[in-house]
Amino acid sequence: MSNIRFRTLEMAMSRPRRQMPVFPDRISDYYGELTFNQEVMREYLSKEAFNSVIRAAELGEKIDRRIADQVALAMKAWALSKGATHFTHWFHPLTGATAEKHDAFIFPTGNGKAMEAFNANELIQQEPDASSFPSGGIRNTFEARGYTAWDPTSPAFIMDRTLCIPTIFVSYTGEALDYKTPLLKASSALDHEATAVCRYFNKNVTRVFATLGWEQEYFLVDTALFNARPDLVLSGRTLFGHSSAKDQQLSDHYFGIIPERVIDFMREFEYEAHRLGIPVRTRHNEVAPNQFECAPVYEEVNVAVDHNQLLMHLLEKVGKRHGYTVLLHEKPYAGVNGSGKHNNWSMSTNLGDNLLSPGKTPQANLQFLVFLASILKALDSHSEILRAYIASAGNDLRLGAHEAPPAIISAFIGTQLSETLDLIEKLDKKSLHRKSEGNGLNINIPKIPEILLDNTDRNRTSPFAFTGNKFEFRAVGSSSSCAKPMIALNLIVADQLKKFRQEVDQLVADKVELEDAIFQVVKKYVKESKRIRFEGNSYSEEWVKEAAKRGLPNIPDTPHALKSLLKKDAIRLFEEHHVLTEREVRARYEIKLENYTRKVQIESRVIGDLAINHIVPIAIRYQNQLIENVKGLKEVLDSKTYTALSKNQLDTIREISEHISVIRSQVLKMTEVRKTVNSIEGAEKQAIAYREKVVPFFEQIRYHVDKLELLVDNELWPLPKYRELLFVR
Ligand code: ADP
Ligand code: MG
Repeated sequence: MSNIRFRTLEMAMSRPRRQMPVFPDRISDYYGELTFNQEVMREYLSKEAFNSVIRAAELGEKIDRRIADQVALAMKAWALSKGATHFTHWFHPLTGATAEKHDAFIFPTGNGKAMEAFNANELIQQEPDASSFPSGGIRNTFEARGYTAWDPTSPAFIMDRTLCIPTIFVSYTGEALDYKTPLLKASSALDHEATAVCRYFNKNVTRVFATLGWEQEYFLVDTALFNARPDLVLSGRTLFGHSSAKDQQLSDHYFGIIPERVIDFMREFEYEAHRLGIPVRTRHNEVAPNQFECAPVYEEVNVAVDHNQLLMHLLEKVGKRHGYTVLLHEKPYAGVNGSGKHNNWSMSTNLGDNLLSPGKTPQANLQFLVFLASILKALDSHSEILRAYIASAGNDLRLGAHEAPPAIISAFIGTQLSETLDLIEKLDKKSLHRKSEGNGLNINIPKIPEILLDNTDRNRTSPFAFTGNKFEFRAVGSSSSCAKPMIALNLIVADQLKKFRQEVDQLVADKVELEDAIFQVVKKYVKESKRIRFEGNSYSEEWVKEAAKRGLPNIPDTPHALKSLLKKDAIRLFEEHHVLTEREVRARYEIKLENYTRKVQIESRVIGDLAINHIVPIAIRYQNQLIENVKGLKEVLDSKTYTALSKNQLDTIREISEHISVIRSQVLKMTEVRKTVNSIEGAEKQAIAYREKVVPFFEQIRYHVDKLELLVDNELWPLPKYRELLFVR
């Protein structure tokens, strides 16, 4: 008899290699061919329309109706030439996934025929029924309409023969129901404040935009094995499973040779990504077995966020063709590394300057220090907002698990930059000024060392690490939309830059020279934000203690992390910069709590079902075999030999009984607790109760199930084991 595990193992091991499609030789031949990019627009649009779209993308200018008509016609012509039959508005509702509703380019002509049609109205705005998307109480049931509106800053693209138009998604009353709306608003706030600060130094700066280069980690698992694990299917992670004798302890997977079947998969999704204009560039094995990473060249933040959403979709879609299921969960397997999504973030000006690149002149260095100090100060004031925006049930399992940054937000800037900041803190007024040399700065800015870009000064344990010309926000979870951390980061930095400018302008009004004023505020920020800087090992126990001493928040779970969003200053921040209204902040709070509760509720149910209906019956079957065997021994052996030889088996029988008994009683208790928690009114109370009363059962039950895995005959065990999930490829 072969159980389901063996049948799926057989399928996985005998899976034929996919017949690979033939790709053109050069990436540049097909790169971006499925996007309505600038080259296409030049070809299809009048010069006036082209310029108007570019100005809309770069400066946020409105596109007038006449131009929109032209763009719609051009998009239709281009999409038809690429074989598209349908179009859709493509948006990011608060489920975290993307949403689309396809319509055919069709218009009946009345004579039993039809023609292809698409107009400006359809391009600019649609009214999908919003009633089945999360709104956190914003949307009244009598007004279920939502609006999607074209976002000309992110290029339209074709996927599955459908023209996809990136859009925002708002309610009838104008509240945001998506991630893109607040992202665009936070980016615009950052643009406004950062540009104003840049203009202290250079009047030619007219625009600043955030840049994002994400690194996406993921696991691959053979789809047959995946399907035999109800926990993976329903919750995205394994809720049971004893660790494999070998997993990542030999460090032999990281940067290792990529297995052939995996390379085939990567080549194919990269091909599709490149056609969609997603600049994926880097691929490699990650630390855990069957864990991999993909990273693009960085882009303007809104486009980078869309591209990451698209890429996650492509990974899953192309994975299926190769018999792989892609796991984007933050912690699919206990005991081996989880997956993150590092958000490399910086700011760039319309002149092409990276604001986090230390410059060559004292003036450029001062500007660099302004941005660095403001970011550190923003982080120190609002680390809780960042924490809240990366919180999820999945990321709770990863943060602080000694393979990913802790839940304490701190910043690493490297030894040399730390020394520079320490020096700045000590500079007094006298040593600050130097004799005026020509028309340069008459202020003594410490030299920023050029070796900063050197890779040796890296700290891989910090949640927020300066890496030479950008910050790497490493605490973001692998399944999260990049929009979340980017909304939070752009907003808190915008807010700090605004304060910076107010402080400088006040000093100038008090007759302090501009450069002097700038320096004074930088110095003040450096001093005030000192506690957020940590250069040591963020994974260590000592840091947890040290951070507590410094008064840095350490919020281990999602329901508590989210609470920070309702603090007065957090709401002030979102309202003042017009990113979200208080009503929207509160609605999102509810949605995030509900999402947490539902995820944990599902996990709890799956644990109960698997334990009682899959594991316990098999353990009993094996136990009965042992009992039969012991009975047989008693029949054939003399009593002395029997006593000596049966001890081991009797012990095992007893152990199995004990584990089964604990599992049963714990599952029963958990179910009872769940019932009471389900009846709690209020999303916040309920989420906290789930965290504090239900989640603790998970580990307890798991412990006994994993012990049974070691005791029960391998032939009987129903769930694919860790060694199979992690090593079959
Ligand atoms: P690593 O961190 O692995 O050493 P890199 O430093 O080359 O690798 O870059 C990692 C990621 O950082 C890439 O996705 C890259 O596009 C991104 N990146 C590089 N420069 C910037 C920037 N100025 N802004 C945002 N992201 C950037
Ligand atoms: Mg990196």
